[in-house]
Amino acid sequence: SKKYIATPLKTKEILNKYKFTFKKSLGQNFLVDVNVLKNIINSTGIDQSSGAIEIGPGMGALTEQLAIYANKVVAFEIDQRLLPILGDTLGDYPNVEIIHQDILEANVSEVIQTYFEPGQDIHVVANLPYYITTPILMKLVRDKLPVSSFTVMIQKEVAERMAAKPNSKSYGSLTIAVQYYTEAKIVMTVPKSVFMPQPNVDSSILQLTMREEPPVHVENEEFFFNLVQASFAQRRKTLRNNLTSYFKEQYTKEGINEILERIDINGTRRGESLDMAEFALLANTFYKERM
Ligand code: SAM
Repeated sequence: SKKYIATPLKTKEILNKYKFTFKKSLGQNFLVDVNVLKNIINSTGIDQSSGAIEIGPGMGALTEQLAIYANKVVAFEIDQRLLPILGDTLGDYPNVEIIHQDILEANVSEVIQTYFEPGQDIHVVANLPYYITTPILMKLVRDKLPVSSFTVMIQKEVAERMAAKPNSKSYGSLTIAVQYYTEAKIVMTVPKSVFMPQPNVDSSILQLTMREEPPVHVENEEFFFNLVQASFAQRRKTLRNNLTSYFKEQYTKEGINEILERIDINGTRRGESLDMAEFALLANTFYKERM
């Protein structure tokens, strides 16, 4: 039987061979459980004709499984020290391309055009470096890439915020930012023991499916996202009070109340009780009122 990279034994063997030391600053927690990797890949719908984009292949644990189940894998790795290691561990998989680049600097659209077939079904799959989970995901979903889904291992707490529903502790501006572009769901939660070294926090696999269109009409996206953020500025304050602080140059408290009454949103509610449609109504109303 084949010795996969994603086992504690094989991982230790590679670490020793290359005298590799983990860089905490790069979020290096490698997966050492093949079953978790198979669950991740199964949840994506990847098949032998699919393309996969990976962020941070590490020593190739997930990359190897993607190479087996998909047609082509392109992986972005920032750590120079891992390149010769990946050349070795993934030497048997000619369908893998490693790009030595910071994903936040990468032109992913161009990479897709270069390495994948036109119209190929592409999935982003990653065990993300936890220190930049949110910037990476926000960059990728805003870029409106031609990919079907994002399936990522991230901190449990952040996954819960991205997949949250109104009226919950996790629901906030990050929820709205993510769900404006995608449908979000948590596939499963995984214990720390599947990583080497083990992180301090629990992890979940989050799946984002790109929407064809945003679920609500928004007059001005920047205005909308700023207003959503302002509505959660102080979570225990009422919507009316958060908006009064945010619009203090433009409106009096009475002015804010008058607008909220007009659109039938009770100002004593908290931001966390508004769904995306209500935030859109709120933002579009204030947007049209400005000047
Ligand atoms: N995929 C491997 C696994 O599951 O075993 C490694 C996952 S580890 C959590 C995160 C990986 O992302 C590391 O290999 C790290 O060097 C890499 N990384 C960190 N920051 C990055 C960035 N900005 N761009 C690309 N890769 C990055």
